[in-house]
Parts: sequence; C-alpha cells; structure tokens
Amino acid sequence: MEHWDDAKWQLKNRINTLAELEARISLTDVERAGVLLAGSKLAMSITPHFFNLIDPNDPNCPVRRQVIPRLEEGWTAPEEMADPCGEDSHMPVPGLVHRYPDRVLFLVTDRCASYCRYCTRSRVVSGVGEQQLETQWEAAFQYLERTPQVRDVLLSGGDPLLFSDAKLERILTRLRAIPHIEFVRIGSRIPIFLPQRITPELCAMLRKFHPLFISIHCNHPKELTTEVHDALGRLADAGIPMGNQSVLLKGVNDSVEVQRTLVHKLLRCRVRPYYLYQCDLINGSSHLRTSVSKGLEIIEGLRGHTTGYAVPQFVIDGPGGGGKIPLNPDYVLERNEGRTLLRNYEGETFEYPEPTPAPAEALASLREKSSCCH
Ligand SMILES: *Cc1c(COP(=O)(O)O)cnc(C)c1O
Ligand code: SF4
Repeated sequence: MEHWDDAKWQLKNRINTLAELEARISLTDVERAGVLLAGSKLAMSITPHFFNLIDPNDPNCPVRRQVIPRLEEGWTAPEEMADPCGEDSHMPVPGLVHRYPDRVLFLVTDRCASYCRYCTRSRVVSGVGEQQLETQWEAAFQYLERTPQVRDVLLSGGDPLLFSDAKLERILTRLRAIPHIEFVRIGSRIPIFLPQRITPELCAMLRKFHPLFISIHCNHPKELTTEVHDALGRLADAGIPMGNQSVLLKGVNDSVEVQRTLVHKLLRCRVRPYYLYQCDLINGSSHLRTSVSKGLEIIEGLRGHTTGYAVPQFVIDGPGGGGKIPLNPDYVLERNEGRTLLRNYEGETFEYPEPTPAPAEALASLREKSSCCH
C-alpha cells in the first residue's frame, strides 16, 4: 500500500470504531459488546500494521485478544483496582513515580499507538478513563534536579516514542543536563505497534543520549514481523541495548512453547527478555489473567533448557504499591548453616557446602614450612 511505511499514515488510519472494525473482520457477540463498552473505559485503537497480524478466521487469535475489547472487560472482579501498582500514591510531582530509592518512572504522555486491553495504566491512558494524566513538566524536572539520589530515569506513559523527534530531543537534553542522572531508558511498544516510527532520523537523534536503553513490550512471536525485526535492528545499530517486558496473558502467551518461541525470536532481534509480568490486578482483566503457577511453570520450562540470556525474570508488581517482586521456581530445597540442598533443571539434587575455615594447626604448620625454605 502506498503509505503503509509511513508512521503518520498508520496513525491516521488506526481502527478506532466498531464500524471500522466490522468492515474488516466479523466479530463475536462478546467482542461487539466489548467495543461498545470500551469507549468509556480504555479506548480502542489499532494500527493497520498490528491489525494485519490478526487472523480473521481465528476468534482465539493471540494478537486479537490483546487489542480487541471483550465483554468481560466490563466486569470488575473483587480483587481488581483502578491503580493496581499504587502509582498515584507514590508521586512527589504529578506524572513522576518515585518508588525505588535511585530511579523514577516519568509518565510523559497518556497516548499510545494502540491500546492493550490489560493496560495497567488504563485509568489514565487513552484519555477516556476515569482519570487524566496531568504531568507537571517543569515541577518534575525541578524535582529531578534537586534529588541527587535519582540516577536512573525511565520515560514511559503512554508511549514516549509517539512524540516528535524534536520534542523527545528536548526532553532528553533536559535530563542529560542533570549531572547525577547516569542512565535513561524509554519504555515503548511503538517498535511493535508502529515499527514505521523507528526511522533512521529517530535513531540518529537517540544515539546522542547514551547510555540510553529501550524496553520494548512484545507478548507473542507473531508480533516480531520482518518490519519489526528491521526496526529493532536500526535501534540496536544505534547502540541502544534493548530488553523486553512481556505480560503473561491467558490465551495469548500462557504456554512454555509460545514463550520459548518468543524469547528465541527476541534474541534474534537483539532484544534480551527482561521481565515476564504476572498480569496486574487492573479492573476488567480477569479473563486475561492466569494463575501465578503458570508463570513459574514457564520459567521452569526455560531455565537450563535454553540460553540464559533468553530467560526473563518473572515478577509480580506487589498489589497496592509493593514494586516488582521476583518469583522463581524452588531450586533451593533446603538451606542451613552447613549446606544448601539444591535441585537443577532436570530435577537432580546437589549439595553445596559452606566454606570450611582452615584450622589453626594447619596454618601453623604451613607457616613453618614456608619459613624454612627462605
Ligand atoms: C518498573 C518500575 C521501575 C523500574 O524498575 P527496574 O526493576 O529497575 O526495571 C521504576 N519505577 C517504577 C515505579 C516502576 O514501576
Ligand atoms: S502500550 Fe503500554 S501504556 Fe500503552 S496501552 Fe499498552 S500497556 Fe498500556
């Protein structure tokens, strides 16, 4: 198509309405109802690029479930929340989340190229939900300037790469001017939703701000198309290290097979799997959440069986504001003062003893031996 490769064309031609959606695929009743509900919760918007990955003949297509709303979204389970990670209560300045001692999450926009139905920030993202994101730019920069313990700033939102090159450059320049900020990263799903945005000009601008990392968000191997592979290659060639944050989603990527294919494809795109998130307790997400044991089973199925670089850390963001908490299969069977009893990925057990200090007599006799040789 004529303008397919142009990010502006992709954004202008997003699928935002029920009519636009139904003109392209036949929806199930559950989806049609979901689309009608979405307008007052989290908007629907799908780039033509991402929409193209949907299998129109498969109502359980893993791409479809991520971006086409469903009726179940309207049901709020008792355990669910509008702000499951307790971000609003950790903002010293509106838009700036300072939970950990040395790093901050800077929410710079409420817009994304497409909207993920399980978005943990759906309370503010897309502009139709119950709250508005009101980032106080100047107050946030001033907070960072006077808070020397912050050495790491994570730009997120929403999706920072929706900004123009010029606007991003202004933000990065201001951050880079702060001497104690050692490390900047951008969290973005644009390389997946809108690879056309990753232009050579963008990459040339970003590379001026090293060390700059990018965390992408990819959940299923189908998302890593040739266009995405090339976009990620341009970022990697600009010297930008990349990690992937994926969300464990029921019916999307909740099997060892899908996750293995995903992590292998990511490495081939020069992206290191970083976190695998247990889905946050966001309102209307129960149909997309799995049990915690599913995540542990996936890690168990990867660790040791494949390249260490391919294995993400499984985490739960502690509900209400606990931050990321790592979960691992139980490789430690027993631990006491004398030894640790372990099992490996194949289930064999091993014992690792604590160090035995050299006895005084042994050291004395060694000392004697060493002195007689001079
Ligand atoms: C995830 C997150 C970070 C970054 O955490 P890392 O483990 O360093 O990637 C920082 N602040 C907040 C509030 C976060 O949610
Ligand atoms: S790209 Fe990120 S911020 Fe945007 S809707 Fe998806 S999960 Fe939410």
